[in-house]
Amino acid sequence: MNNFNENNLFNPDRTGSIEVICGSMFSGKTEELIRRLRRAVFARQKVEIFKPAMEIRYSKEEIVSHDQNTIPGTPVENSGNILLLSSDIDVVGIDEAQFFDDGLPYVCNQLAEQGIRVIVAGLDMDYKGNPFGPIPALCAIAEDVTKVHAICVKCGKLANYSHRLVKNEKLVLLGEKEEYQPLCRECYNRVTALLKDIV
Ligand SMILES: [Zn+2]
Repeated sequence: MNNFNENNLFNPDRTGSIEVICGSMFSGKTEELIRRLRRAVFARQKVEIFKPAMEIRYSKEEIVSHDQNTIPGTPVENSGNILLLSSDIDVVGIDEAQFFDDGLPYVCNQLAEQGIRVIVAGLDMDYKGNPFGPIPALCAIAEDVTKVHAICVKCGKLANYSHRLVKNEKLVLLGEKEEYQPLCRECYNRVTALLKDIV
């Protein structure tokens, strides 16, 4: 973890802020989001968690990470709904933020202006290695960005690519272990070059 001191944000006189937790699949983004939100709950802060309504991998009502840590969450259709549902809240968590519309950075700014601590977790790149949805813009406007890493399944180095194992051109494919593997840059380039040769 970096030098960022999240305890500063528990100051009751705090102003709002935006934190981004991003990385590849299996990098522990949601676990880190849940850890920060739990600490806010322990500090008796009012916490609300949102996720895109399309994220129905396991449960409609809970934010679920790959290690089955759960915390109640509210599915919303678009980023604007988060603004409507966040009155009288201290900390807003947003999971799978890459699937939200481009209005999300504006919404997070508005929340922070209202004195809310906003913690956003999402994939930084899609399976092709391109910046994903509103995450790059969120990184730009955030006070703090934490990049988390998975471990490359080929060589054991830090991985930041989510390689898709099934052939499907759809950008949004909610995945599990069978469908993606975390790879480092070197292994990702080797594997995708091999795939190009086959096609
Ligand atoms: Zn590797």
